[in-house]
Amino acid sequence: SLSGKTAVVTGSNSGIGLGVARELARAGADVVLNSFSDRDEDHALAAGIAADFGVNARYIKADMSKGSECRALIEQAGACDILVNNAGIQHVAPIDEFPIDKWDAIIAINMNSAFHTMAAALPKMRAAGWGRIVNIASAHGLTASPYKAAYVAAKHGVVGMTKTVALETAQEPITCNAICPGYVLTPLVEAQIPDTMKEYDMDRETVVRDIMLARQPSKEFATVEQLGGTTVFLCSDAAAQMTGTTLSVDGGWTAL
Ligand code: NAD
Repeated sequence: SLSGKTAVVTGSNSGIGLGVARELARAGADVVLNSFSDRDEDHALAAGIAADFGVNARYIKADMSKGSECRALIEQAGACDILVNNAGIQHVAPIDEFPIDKWDAIIAINMNSAFHTMAAALPKMRAAGWGRIVNIASAHGLTASPYKAAYVAAKHGVVGMTKTVALETAQEPITCNAICPGYVLTPLVEAQIPDTMKEYDMDRETVVRDIMLARQPSKEFATVEQLGGTTVFLCSDAAAQMTGTTLSVDGGWTAL
């Protein structure tokens, strides 16, 4: 059980981050949710987790595009035994047309935030004598697709940073690993289905199988619960000698 541990999950008011936070809470961890907004519904998500799983749950606003706010999130959390770097955005464009502000935002949120949160969290993990860092990278941390230069660069960067931190903590009771999801059915992905159906004049099933899951051999989405379960596994004693590695949850994408 992760009872007595505090988990900070960046970008966790929707999608994978929220699913990961829920599975960590189910395993007994206290959780800190985060995003850049500060709405009643954000705080209600934390209250819901506390009620569902009988753990402490808080929501802390911090913008992961800003290094100072990344570090402030970890300080405000107090304890940080488990750090899940999950916040991320996407933009798709050919490199010669890629908007500079989108490039900067993707590199900041998807990659630099992990540098800042890990730097702030490691002293806390060392003081506690235990720590787990799980970076939510992507199949695009291991392979590329056209038009996703910033995302692919950031996710490869996260995988590289994961290996470096694993080496720096190798002789301590701290591990640092990356999970590389293929397509996961989050609200973000779900919302793209109707437009894609119109664009290609296809039914839902065909869009999902032939367009969205074209590169995912299983022809099924991964779920946020599966990503949460993989995170809980990486926090378990069974994974204590796993560090600096990547776990693909991609229905065979990177085996192709
Ligand atoms: P999502 O849009 O549902 O979640 C992204 C989260 O990040 C949200 O909670 C959002 O509020 C938060 N966020 C965005 N900008 C932020 C900022 N500046 N500061 C703080 N929080 C911010 O998308 P998701 O699919 O759940 O993605 C989560 C992570 O998983 C991302 O890193 C993404 O790259 C990665 N991923 C997703 C998929 C997929 O198919 N959905 C596949 C591989 C990797």
